[in-house]
Amino acid sequence: MKHIGIDLGTANTIIYMKGKGIVLREPSVVAVENGGKRAVAVGREAKLMLGKTPGSIKALCPLRDGVIAEFDATSAMLRHFFKKVSGNTIFSRPKVIICIPYGVTEVERRAVEDVTLEAGAQSVALIEEPVAAAIGAGLKIADARGSMIVDIGGGTTEVAVLSYGGIVLSTSLRTAGNELDDAISAYIKKKYNVLIGDVTAETLKKNIGSAHPSFDRGVMEVRGRNLLNGLPAIINVNSAEIREAMGDGIRTIVEGIKTTLENTPPELSADIYDMGIVLAGGGALLPGLDMMVTHHTGIRTFVAKNPIDCVAHGIGRVIESGQLSDAVTFRTR
Ligand code: ADP
Ligand code: MG
Repeated sequence: MKHIGIDLGTANTIIYMKGKGIVLREPSVVAVENGGKRAVAVGREAKLMLGKTPGSIKALCPLRDGVIAEFDATSAMLRHFFKKVSGNTIFSRPKVIICIPYGVTEVERRAVEDVTLEAGAQSVALIEEPVAAAIGAGLKIADARGSMIVDIGGGTTEVAVLSYGGIVLSTSLRTAGNELDDAISAYIKKKYNVLIGDVTAETLKKNIGSAHPSFDRGVMEVRGRNLLNGLPAIINVNSAEIREAMGDGIRTIVEGIKTTLENTPPELSADIYDMGIVLAGGGALLPGLDMMVTHHTGIRTFVAKNPIDCVAHGIGRVIESGQLSDAVTFRTR
């Protein structure tokens, strides 16, 4: 039977398998038929259906702001992913370590355990996400020295200060990748009277977005619907416009980091000043975000290697070491 680690994110689900590394990376999206429980498409395939499905099929993101919003859809999605990584044999029920955001309620924790077992796991252990992200980013979290990790995902940005292997304090912001996408849609609607879809907004962010003016990433042609005459529209949008659209969101993230620093005990903030701030999660890929954080905090800021995979790699290291750290709690079916 297999040991696997799961980063069950609002935007992406990533699975690490013992001895193999990352074996699955898929959007956390499920398409269900007629409000039923049966998933007609999962992951990448389902994400392509977002905003395009006929009435009888609904493509949805079953996680919201880091926690499970749709239990059955999450379970169906995980079941599908388990089959995929085990070569479609349903006989080997995996032993799972899965992450939960820091500071979730007992009910939300329980839902993650239940959904994992329901999806076919033999046992489930929980690890706190900022701890996994820090391990995955290569921080020596067992040290006495304080460190700061900022994980910018789809639904939330988690700012955490760690010391002696545990979380000293953490701030969770609802401003993250999805909100930046929404801000881009709103900007284009206001400026051009054109409505664009969520996927188009995300593509603009990834292709020509940046957080700092030193990155000019050119122009992109986008298609949407003209709100004045209802007809299809094609417009050209440039990098500076996307940066302007995301300005408030970026400022909120930087302010969240500053507030967390202000609340950090002085000895630890001195450590963070020496060691720097590490950015993880897909949002960390936005060019110039590290520069913005450095500019506003005066602290050197780095983007972790493969930031989208940080949490999964962190769980992977726990699995490979064979010893469940203090950060992990355990339940068997
Ligand atoms: P989660 O943990 O919530 O599933 P991820 O860490 O997988 O989230 O990050 C997903 C977010 O990162 C999405 O909002 C996505 O648009 C964003 N993202 C991914 N790649 C890039 C990129 N190159 N530039 C900016 N944002 C990105
Ligand atoms: Mg995440």
